[in-house]
Amino acid sequence: MASQGPVNPSHAMFDLFVQAQTCKDVKHHFTQLCRQLEIDPKDFGSFYAKLKERLNYWKAKALWTKLDKRASHEDYQQGKACTKNKCLVLGAGPCGLRVAIELSLLGAQVVLLEKRETFSRNNVLHLWPYTIYDLRELGAKKFYGKFCSGSLDHISIRQLQLVLLKVALLLGVEVHTGVEFQGLIEPSGENGWMAKLQPRSHPAAAFQFDVFISAGGGRFVPDGFKHKELRGRLAIGITANFINRHTAAETQVEEISGVARIYNQKFFQELLNETGIDLENIVYYKDDTHYFVMTAKKKSLLKKGVIKQDYNDAEQLLAPANVDYEALCNYAYDAADFSTGGGLPDLQFAQNHAGRRDVAMFDFTCMHRAENASLVKERRGKKLLIGLVGDCLVEPFWPLGTGIARGFFAAFDAAWMVRSWGNGVPHLKVLAERVYQLLSQTTPENTSKKYAAYSIDPRTRYQRVNLSAIQTHQVQHLYDVEKTHPSFKKQKESSLHMRQDSAGGSEELLKWYQKHTAGYKNVNVKDFTQSWRSGLALCALIHHFRPDLIDMSSLDESNCVHNNQLAFSILEKELGIPPVMSPNSLANTDQIDKLSMVLYLTQIQSGFALPKK
Ligand code: FAD
Repeated sequence: MASQGPVNPSHAMFDLFVQAQTCKDVKHHFTQLCRQLEIDPKDFGSFYAKLKERLNYWKAKALWTKLDKRASHEDYQQGKACTKNKCLVLGAGPCGLRVAIELSLLGAQVVLLEKRETFSRNNVLHLWPYTIYDLRELGAKKFYGKFCSGSLDHISIRQLQLVLLKVALLLGVEVHTGVEFQGLIEPSGENGWMAKLQPRSHPAAAFQFDVFISAGGGRFVPDGFKHKELRGRLAIGITANFINRHTAAETQVEEISGVARIYNQKFFQELLNETGIDLENIVYYKDDTHYFVMTAKKKSLLKKGVIKQDYNDAEQLLAPANVDYEALCNYAYDAADFSTGGGLPDLQFAQNHAGRRDVAMFDFTCMHRAENASLVKERRGKKLLIGLVGDCLVEPFWPLGTGIARGFFAAFDAAWMVRSWGNGVPHLKVLAERVYQLLSQTTPENTSKKYAAYSIDPRTRYQRVNLSAIQTHQVQHLYDVEKTHPSFKKQKESSLHMRQDSAGGSEELLKWYQKHTAGYKNVNVKDFTQSWRSGLALCALIHHFRPDLIDMSSLDESNCVHNNQLAFSILEKELGIPPVMSPNSLANTDQIDKLSMVLYLTQIQSGFALPKK
């Protein structure tokens, strides 16, 4: 007997919603479902409860069980932690959607803005084990049956956005697409903080909020945040997507989950000999498309005519006018064909959002990260908490797949911050807690493996996190208040005091380091910047606790980068503490981020202070 669809119209609409494969269809079927069930999606406080009550459908129930389990976590305080908060989230990329879900679980009113109308990114994201667990627990498999089946550990960006959009809508997030955020509007008259939007008359322009989370991706960072440039050696990334017809032959071709040159020199040498293509690494994933991401060497790109003219400056080098698109397509095609042993017949490029062959070249030479993850603005007595998540906080290096893993961590951290805000924790304390620069250190190895215990509380995920490492007066500069306000005067006095006090309030920490590095030649710990430049202080500390690990007499004070690298490597290997900055940055006083340094030293202190196993 042929299987029959549900006869109940709301059940049929729910099925269409669950199966929808475009952003437009998801929104359309959601609206239909709400209409059919007579629930107002703007009634965020009770939307999910009403939906559950009125949609008595076994397929939906399996999903409710998952979402209820998540919602019942004590961190959300029964969905009451942030009932008074109104949050504007910018960007329906994976991180914007993920943070919106958490904020709605906290009980906040959440409005999310996205300038695009479609989800069109074919590129595939590598997922760390915890993200797979997290997404499964949100019901990803109910929306996308193929989600991480067997040993698969990746998903296309658009599929991930679709899954998260559906969850967000079910939990009462108000999602607007086709609307561009153009800036914040300061409070005036009776109005609180609002957003300037394009189109101007968009209904969300009337929304007043006390929390603004930017997940605008890439280099989209709101006013007030400083960006740091981390310049490495030239790294040119190429992504390419080919149509997946899901034939038996295509199914048999094995994925390449990260072949780096150091591990497979023979493969790269053969590739070079046969095709003239010279790569540092390559990844191949099979998803909706056949997706390749690789890092290519400049010389071979010049030789193959992909880059027309050589420039030292990466921006000039990769400017569209200096790239031959046809040659780029051939380069990516040949690399894909060779690396899959010619096993993918009829390789044909998929189309990108602009209807062109989906191949692109990116510059990873210069990565950006924001100096801080949050700040508070106050105007006319109205405070606004602003947070960054995802790529606009730390730009990921795609071939390593850090985008989603660190992006979701940042989303949870931001939600934890909003929870404190909602619970009435003083604003400087909220900001101080959010300053732990552990995010860029995280790897699947050094984060907790107890995925089931992960929550928005940072202590469930990071090792050695100390939420009190930073004192409130050290983050005064993250509180932006108008000059006429009484607290501005207080803030000025406090920052003056801070400048005079080089320890910046972490005297205990400084004293501990002074005690354990005393007597070492050319070591004089007196602050959190200059004193660490040569690397000798870190080496001395290691020597103090573990003289077997370091030979102090072999070190040269002027060889700062080498000393820093040595100390970083030992601390990572012996204590499991990854560095928070490059050896070059520490050697250059202008580039030392004091707050990062305080956190790093706090971790090292607890590392050495822990009882030996
Ligand atoms: P994004 O996914 O970039 O989302 C930001 C969203 O904000 C976008 O939808 C954007 O339209 C919206 N937005 C921006 N400004 C505004 C505004 N003013 N108003 C309204 N909306 C706005 N990672 C990999 O691991 N592998 C890859 O191959 C890979 N390829 C990528 C290709 C491209 C072109 C891009 C942009 C990113 C790629 N990434 C890749 C990175 C990966 O997509 C991100 O790490 C991941 O999507 C998480 O990002 P996010 O949510 O922070 O930002």
